Amino acid sequence: QNPVPHATCESVQATVQADARTEVPAPYTDLAAYQAEGGYQLLKRVASGELTPEAMIETLEHSGLRGLGGAGFPAGRKWRIVRGEAAPRLMAVNIDEGEPGTFKDRYYLERDPHRFLEGMLIAATVVGVSAIYIYLRDEYAGCRALLTAELDKLRAAAPVPLPTIELRRGAGAYICGEESAMIESIEGKRGMPRLRPPYVAQVGLFGRPTLEHNFETLYWIRDIVEKGADWFAGHGRHGRKGLRSYSVSGRVKKPGVHLAPAGITIAELIDEYCGGMLDGHNFYAYLPGGASGGILPATMNDIPLDFDTLQPYGCFIGSAAVVVLSDHDSAVGAARNLMSFFKHESCGQCTPCRTGTAKALDLIHQPEWDVDTLNDLSFVMRDASICGLGQAAPNPVDCVIKYFPHELAASGAASKR
Ligand code: SF4
Repeated sequence: QNPVPHATCESVQATVQADARTEVPAPYTDLAAYQAEGGYQLLKRVASGELTPEAMIETLEHSGLRGLGGAGFPAGRKWRIVRGEAAPRLMAVNIDEGEPGTFKDRYYLERDPHRFLEGMLIAATVVGVSAIYIYLRDEYAGCRALLTAELDKLRAAAPVPLPTIELRRGAGAYICGEESAMIESIEGKRGMPRLRPPYVAQVGLFGRPTLEHNFETLYWIRDIVEKGADWFAGHGRHGRKGLRSYSVSGRVKKPGVHLAPAGITIAELIDEYCGGMLDGHNFYAYLPGGASGGILPATMNDIPLDFDTLQPYGCFIGSAAVVVLSDHDSAVGAARNLMSFFKHESCGQCTPCRTGTAKALDLIHQPEWDVDTLNDLSFVMRDASICGLGQAAPNPVDCVIKYFPHELAASGAASKR
């Protein structure tokens, strides 16, 4: 083991830039190294009652920490809601990380797994859960080996009595990153989203109230409590609060996980964190939130990237997977690629999504787009799909119609990549 210091904003930056494009596992902080720098002391204070559940929830609420898997639900409020439900309560941790372009959870998990595990156990203690199910995407074989080993060490030298912790393997379906589909999958069923209400917080895993969190949300809990809610909330730009781990890919010099202020603009992110555009490439467009978050043109480069800020433009940040396109790319090409992905990943449960993605894909492969029919299709998919996949699948196509009409007018859609 070769422990690395806990990632600060700056050290993450330096490390990521060094190895963002390599598959070589980085050295990581194991249990002994983590405990040597004070790890699990906070959990002990929470478990002993020195830090009360109410104080912990208030700290989280004050920090403004939101669900970093993409939904952005306030974490403190979620703890309060689930804690108010009848026991037994369960917990499900989402490390499915299936959103195209997103790799932040893997990045942190491979380096500092116990910071996440301590956050998870603190959440479990505050909310009072009796069993935890960690859902890890199966493609992360290295993470599974690492997590299995570190969980074994933790169980053997538990700093406090531990609840049952099960590590479950996903099977590669994008939809299983949706919380209720993940819960179905953990229960051993086909991963299909549930109709809500009831919400997972009330009727979740095995019919019990369930605290569901993304990996990264839990990763920040120790730092927020130890450094103070104001430390986290004190970051941010353009009126936004907090830190975001942007997974940046595409035509930039330094792709990778960039820990940056919430609300940073794409222009600032590319210039200050990504080393600028690749030589020979001019900034043309960007995906602010992976496959589902839409496509924006380079001219709209001053929008703060955060929860809630992109909705007026028909986009969203989701898990902060930013894909940068250049003048070597086209928005039409990106939309075709994304719709093909959605068609493939639709679980098929509801007609607007199952049929709508297939129909839309056909239409956008025509030399000339039937914009009226695409608009109708988009309306029905948004209005009547059961879950976010079908509701957001039209985003890239809608964005092309709205922001890239020149690509359609040029009638070059068929010939562009
Ligand atoms: Fe399945 Fe798509 Fe319906 Fe979601 S919207 S439940 S992915 S068919």
